[in-house]
Amino acid sequence: MEPPEPAGYNADANERETPNSEFETRTMRAWLRNVVRATATLGRGMHVTLRTLVQSFRRKAFTQHFEYPERPVPVRPRYRGFHRYDLTTCIGCDKCARACPVDCIYIAKEKAPPPAKGFVVTGFAIDYTKCMFCALCVDPCPVDCIFMGSNHDISTYTRDGCVVDYAKLPLEVAWGQASLSPTAVHESKRVALPVWTKTAEPAKT
Ligand code: SF4
Ligand code: SF4
Repeated sequence: MEPPEPAGYNADANERETPNSEFETRTMRAWLRNVVRATATLGRGMHVTLRTLVQSFRRKAFTQHFEYPERPVPVRPRYRGFHRYDLTTCIGCDKCARACPVDCIYIAKEKAPPPAKGFVVTGFAIDYTKCMFCALCVDPCPVDCIFMGSNHDISTYTRDGCVVDYAKLPLEVAWGQASLSPTAVHESKRVALPVWTKTAEPAKT
């Protein structure tokens, strides 16, 4: 004789629950798989984070490697920084100024007193608000007195200071050794007033 069925037992409903149980089991397994995968991914991510954190503590800070301006950041060999210009060699031929596509080189010169020939360059200003560091002014120079230098620290605090007159700078700054000389850098940054003033156009008659 079969045991009596418990109160509220419904044989039809019990049969219908079997596929539901399998579905729930599969869902639970998928959920567990997702949890394991998420935990593993999180662990890998945290490992990378911790490794980077430890490395950043071990290596020196950037400012410990390069202490500006005494130990400046090295630049690439073909870096085009501010120009190097040698006033003592320049003959004032204007070829660089004519080659400049944005007309940002202003040369002031006077006739050399006889018996000397040629010109005396009294001003050689480059407007760095216009210069695009294309180096087209370098090639035409017949005496190789202008180059693109590796100097990047003739910065100023005003737009007027962006017009740099190389004829008025200390020679070591003009010849691109300013970053080796903090005093010269300091001096060059004091050039904050207009160093070149456009002369008035002659009145048209
Ligand atoms: S680098 Fe180019 S834009 Fe600058 S002064 Fe020379 S020619 Fe002109
Ligand atoms: S091309 Fe050379 S020599 Fe002629 S003005 Fe320019 S820097 Fe001076």
